[in-house]
Amino acid sequence: MKNDCLFCAIAGGEIPSNKVYEDELCYAFYDIAPQAPTHFLVIPKAHIASVAEVNGGNSAVVAHIFEVIARLCREKGLESYRVVSNIGEQAGQSVHHLHFHVLSGRDMTWPPG
Ligand code: 5GP
Ligand code: ZN
Repeated sequence: MKNDCLFCAIAGGEIPSNKVYEDELCYAFYDIAPQAPTHFLVIPKAHIASVAEVNGGNSAVVAHIFEVIARLCREKGLESYRVVSNIGEQAGQSVHHLHFHVLSGRDMTWPPG
């Protein structure tokens, strides 16, 4: 856990969130400012700043998170959805703890704006 990291505090239960799912490696919760009818975030419990910090030593949790995303979406009956991770300021990253947005329930454009 990293001091002053919002998502470390959410994963640790120190800051409340609307939980979707939790296990020993990851935590999923609804986004506070949803951009689609369904919008939740999946994060590793261990602090990783972004996709740019994924390496051979910590990447197993990323595979696990994608398994969790597939399972959660299947359970929720979501057949079409988007998984997004923003890296860096220009891409729109505002929280510097790795997170995957899962968005569903509306038409989406490509490329994103
Ligand atoms: P980013 O902008 O880094 O790609 O995504 C960060 C996301 O975290 C945003 O969609 C934002 O709405 C969400 N967020 C920021 N603070 C909180 C919070 O305190 N609780 C929850 N549930 N979501 C948050
Ligand atoms: Zn963190």
